[in-house]
Amino acid sequence: MALRNIVTEGDTILEKKCHTVVKFDDKLATLLDDMAETLSLAGGVGLAAPQVGILRRVVVININDELIELINPTIVEQSGEQEGSEGCLSCPGQWGIVVRPLNVTVKAQDRKGKVFTKSGTELLARCFCHELDHLDGVIFKERAKRMLNDQELEELYS
Ligand code: ZN
Repeated sequence: MALRNIVTEGDTILEKKCHTVVKFDDKLATLLDDMAETLSLAGGVGLAAPQVGILRRVVVININDELIELINPTIVEQSGEQEGSEGCLSCPGQWGIVVRPLNVTVKAQDRKGKVFTKSGTELLARCFCHELDHLDGVIFKERAKRMLNDQELEELYS
């Protein structure tokens, strides 16, 4: 496994729409392993392939030590609403208030190409939405009701 460089805001790759994965090969497996390692070191909960400079529909999520790999994910069901603060590894030090569905079910493929569905609530639901947005070139800031101010950020980090 190897660490990948996380691209930050301003890099136009983050604004592009990612391509569907058609080959479930060793190269994909390596990308997934690298992304998981990069995510873990960065201390985040989710990472999308464009954030490491790869325009493919690939996402890794790690919440409560459960690693979820999503290839070509789509949201098939969503309900409810949650409002809360959200950040992004590509926008260090910036947080915004974003409204997301409370419950989200995604349909995706695993690293072998097998189709599965996975449901999440609260943080996982938020993470599904945030990471899938990345695959369409959308950064959370575009969805934020407002960004947190300096005082709120101080409280968040204290
Ligand atoms: Zn992000």
